Amino acid sequence: MEKEKQLVFGHKNPDTDTIASAVAYSYLLNKMGYNTEPVALGEPNDETKFVFQSFACPLPRIIDKINGEVKSVILVDHNEPQQSVDDLDTVEVTNVIDHHRIAGFETKNPLYYRAEPLGCVSTILVKLFAENAVEIPLNLAGVMLGAIISDTLLLKSPTTTDEDINAAKALAKIADIDYRSFGIEELKAGTNLGAKSDLELVRQDAKSFDMNGVKVRVDQINTVDLNEVFDRQNGLEKAMEEDAKENGYDLFLVLATDVLESDSRLLVWGDHKDKVETAFNGKLENNTMNLPGVVSRKKQVVPPLENAFKN
Ligand code: MN
Ligand code: MN
Repeated sequence: MEKEKQLVFGHKNPDTDTIASAVAYSYLLNKMGYNTEPVALGEPNDETKFVFQSFACPLPRIIDKINGEVKSVILVDHNEPQQSVDDLDTVEVTNVIDHHRIAGFETKNPLYYRAEPLGCVSTILVKLFAENAVEIPLNLAGVMLGAIISDTLLLKSPTTTDEDINAAKALAKIADIDYRSFGIEELKAGTNLGAKSDLELVRQDAKSFDMNGVKVRVDQINTVDLNEVFDRQNGLEKAMEEDAKENGYDLFLVLATDVLESDSRLLVWGDHKDKVETAFNGKLENNTMNLPGVVSRKKQVVPPLENAFKN
């Protein structure tokens, strides 16, 4: 009997890991006899397009709602409902593969839930392929490697583990490429800031967090030159305000990250700026603050902010 169809997807404002992991996990599940289709909750960014084109891997279909298309779904690279599809409450979640904190997520029925504190979902998937004795095809190896490079900023982010490094090397071998030179090309492809409007920049890689009842939005902009971002500060602040008023965010942070130097600078809009100063133990100057050595939103930005809001 054929299994009922399921959709596999990552978070809104998709990054390379979210899309590559949906595609790779769907492939693995189908090899295991499931009937799944990977989809994306939004347009892939320039970095993701570069990675998928490099390995001639087709990008998944884009949806914005389930709209009754399936009864159950599979999540990768997220679990917090506000980062997921808007009508998630109309379907059952049967599997989750993730590497984030678990927050606000609950189900009616038992499910398969695999969470590991690794740098990338694709690293977990490399293990799942091995556990199920399924070979990773060349093009999937390439996009999964692209996902690890993206999430770990070429294995330099503090989220990087030995397992990520080993997975990246194994995938580079299958894809038959030099991961360092490919990684630099990939990160540069993702920083094409001149082509984007201020509103696109503050929305592109943004995630929402509920911190003690306060709606906090945190966007990350990767660049190879922080001045390229801060030359546009006025426009970015206006865009943050517009996006916040439209969507009810109380506090909006843009984390601009120099991917080559592994440093960041914050731009902040909204209420509770004192919490930002407490979280990062510094003073905002003209709504900005340097964060030397900070590159990870998940590990170096969200936890200290959460702590500041608890007090
Ligand atoms: Mn992600
Ligand atoms: Mn990820």
